[in-house]
Amino acid sequence: MAKIQAIRGMNDVLPGQTPAWQYLEQVMRDLLSAYAYQEIRFPIVEQTQLFKRSIGEVTDIVEKEMYTFEDRNGDSLSLRPEGTACCVRAAEQHGLLYNQTQKLWYMGPMYRHERPQKGRYRQFFQMGVEAFGMAGVDIEAEILLLSRDLWERLGIADVLTLEINNLGTSEDRVRYGEALKDYLMQHHDALDEDSQRRLGKNVLRILDSKSPVTQEILLGAPKLPDFISPESSASFTQLLVILQHAGIACQVNSSLVRGLDYYNGVVFEWTTDKLGAQSAVCSGGRYDGLSKQLGGTNTPGVGFALGMERLILLLEELGRLPAEISCSVDLYISVIGEGVRQQALLLANEIRQTMPRLRVLTHCGGGKYNSQLKKAYASGARCALVLEGETELTEIKMRVLDDSGETTTLSPASVCDSLSGFFNK
Ligand code: ATP
Ligand code: MG
Repeated sequence: MAKIQAIRGMNDVLPGQTPAWQYLEQVMRDLLSAYAYQEIRFPIVEQTQLFKRSIGEVTDIVEKEMYTFEDRNGDSLSLRPEGTACCVRAAEQHGLLYNQTQKLWYMGPMYRHERPQKGRYRQFFQMGVEAFGMAGVDIEAEILLLSRDLWERLGIADVLTLEINNLGTSEDRVRYGEALKDYLMQHHDALDEDSQRRLGKNVLRILDSKSPVTQEILLGAPKLPDFISPESSASFTQLLVILQHAGIACQVNSSLVRGLDYYNGVVFEWTTDKLGAQSAVCSGGRYDGLSKQLGGTNTPGVGFALGMERLILLLEELGRLPAEISCSVDLYISVIGEGVRQQALLLANEIRQTMPRLRVLTHCGGGKYNSQLKKAYASGARCALVLEGETELTEIKMRVLDDSGETTTLSPASVCDSLSGFFNK
């Protein structure tokens, strides 16, 4: 019978790779806690309507990429393709947006039916930050500072660049959309098929078009900055000033509009030239209309999401993962002779109770002294205990697992003291 394989574009993370994931997750958790953001967790499956109403019907995600199915009750459900809509839904449903501000984060898998390739998968992990109830530039600057802080903590700040744009208020966006539509209608027949379709419902997305002919036509189109109201421009300028003072270099890119319908005001993207075509690492912006659009209160929101696989690829390719994360063992306990198996397990537990942070691997499955010693060296542990005896534990040797192989003989009663002396040196 043929072996069952994982679904294309959905990755297993094997033991060799989990330390990198745990490292990234830990750096992110520490950072988010340093900014006093709180974690929120929401389901992986939601009503399809949530994504149609938030992301927009005429977007790649909703048109082509969602995993949508009917459940046994005939309800249309979808695997979440992103977290912002879910986060707004959850916060609204539980009254977190009522007369208060929130600084939230989430982490978990997202699902999009895209063509799998390096850095682009059908199940991928995002960490996202969403801040609610704050309309000013201070929170916009804070989440950008937070993201830059993350690149610094990970040691990849030098390979990431920030592109930023101002979409104006929702009204500015509508006025601009109309002007753009009027212009593009005059060139309707020359546009690519996707762009023709978007003319009806999502004209701003045409700015993202990959078709050279469409891009040529766009050269003569009305420009978004000309439609932005003075208040919105002033606030964007303030943001740029804060970023400059914070030493965050950025490029203003007026064709950056982002793939989702719900953005207004500032939008941004951190990209790298080290990952080939999959250059976007983190993107986000302001989405003040979203919670109302989903039937909730009128609450300003701003946030971003980053792709964890792409960050790990970056860390691996640049060799910037700390060396020590690949090792998961501090102390290796070799057990020679069946007679001492039980004592070995009990001693290991005693050691764990005395030193709860020490990572203690007890050798199971028998084997000769030499083969166990090889495994002890290969494990990366700094020290091994060798327990030997036919019927009871008569001898405990402690061996330093370096080139010296320095070995001392201990009495069972003194093991814990000697170990804490060694590891706390
Ligand atoms: P792209 O332009 O690469 O398709 P996107 O604009 O669709 O990215 P967002 O929806 O903004 O991406 O998601 C935020 C981040 O999630 C991206 O910057 C990227 O790092 C990551 N991401 C998005 N789609 C995928 C995917 N299919 N596989 C892996 N990571 C992804
Ligand atoms: Mg995409």
